[in-house]
Amino acid sequence: MKKRCHIFEKIENSKKLSQEDIKTVMNIVRQEMNFMIRNNILMTPNNYSRWFEVFCYIVESKKKFNDLEILGLFKEFFEESYDEVIKEKGKVENHPKGFVKKLNSIAESIDKKLLEIIKSMDQYGTNLDAHSENLSKNQEEIDSKNVIDSIEKILKIVQNLKEENRELTDELKKYHKDVLKLQQELKVAKSESEVDFLTGLVNRRRFERALLDLLNDLKTKKYPFSLIMLDIDDFKKINDTYGHQTGDRVLQDIALILRTFLRANTIPARIGGEELAVILPGTKLEDAKKIAQRLRRAIENRSFHIDDLKVTASFGVTEAKEDDTIDSIYERVDKAMYEAKKSGKNRVVVYE
Ligand code: GH3
Ligand code: MG
Ligand code: MG
Repeated sequence: MKKRCHIFEKIENSKKLSQEDIKTVMNIVRQEMNFMIRNNILMTPNNYSRWFEVFCYIVESKKKFNDLEILGLFKEFFEESYDEVIKEKGKVENHPKGFVKKLNSIAESIDKKLLEIIKSMDQYGTNLDAHSENLSKNQEEIDSKNVIDSIEKILKIVQNLKEENRELTDELKKYHKDVLKLQQELKVAKSESEVDFLTGLVNRRRFERALLDLLNDLKTKKYPFSLIMLDIDDFKKINDTYGHQTGDRVLQDIALILRTFLRANTIPARIGGEELAVILPGTKLEDAKKIAQRLRRAIENRSFHIDDLKVTASFGVTEAKEDDTIDSIYERVDKAMYEAKKSGKNRVVVYE
């Protein structure tokens, strides 16, 4: 049976809305806006109206639903699931912190504003009733001064109500614009991000930019640097045995090891699924090799929160040459790492 929204039907049939109805509409809008913002649902007219129907049912039924159940309701109403929310929900922890904070503060402001309006409507409503009563009494007495007085007061109240509404509409439009802008920013932030969300290390894009800068410094200022590449050993087996989440945890722990054991001017990066790299500015091959050995031992000796879980990694090390390109230095360190795998894993191989 299709769920219904009575207010929606009233609006559609151009029936007059009572004061009580308008308050209900406000409450529907409050909850709808909150939900849409919370779930990063694009604020298009189509989305507004479809979600309005769902929240109208929720408010009128006076029942409590969680977000998952609300998605279920949407499916019941429109016989299709709202995929964008589900997709977005999975990604929500990937939103930059500031973004979520901004969204929440907008949602809070809207909610506060709507509550204010509802409260002041109550106030005006009570006043209106009192004055209407006055009016009918006065009509009997035909006291023109009092009648005019009352009418003036009512007009003033209606005027106030209208202004509140205009203010509300303006404010909502502004919030709408803010949310759209934030959604746009988030899109750009995601596509331009230079940080890997899982490990907090810089990603491949940033890594390659740093390589290019350092190759330039080597050519122009003879400033040396080395490169370490490491690949977790038998990572597939770790995933298969302990689950993907544990795999993620291992990656995070290894990233933490890199950050703790390395000097501040180094650049640890996640350049692939379970492939990490470290750029060591000002470091020559011999020192780079020692650093790689230290990292290898640190990983090997680290306890990873699960009994029996042993994690190791294989390392390739090389120093940059003046005639290197990104590709040539990368190829060399990759070959060294591959050699470390081939010769038994959990070891460091250096290529000059
Ligand atoms: P080897 O010792 O030769 O490196 O073997 P391996 O199993 O580590 O290497 P392989 O390339 O066969 O498998 C890599 C695995 O890493 C497969 C992939 O599912 C997993 N992986 C890649 N990225 C992630 C991630 O972000 N999280 C988790 N949990 N696993 C990942
Ligand atoms: Mg690999
Ligand atoms: Mg591996």
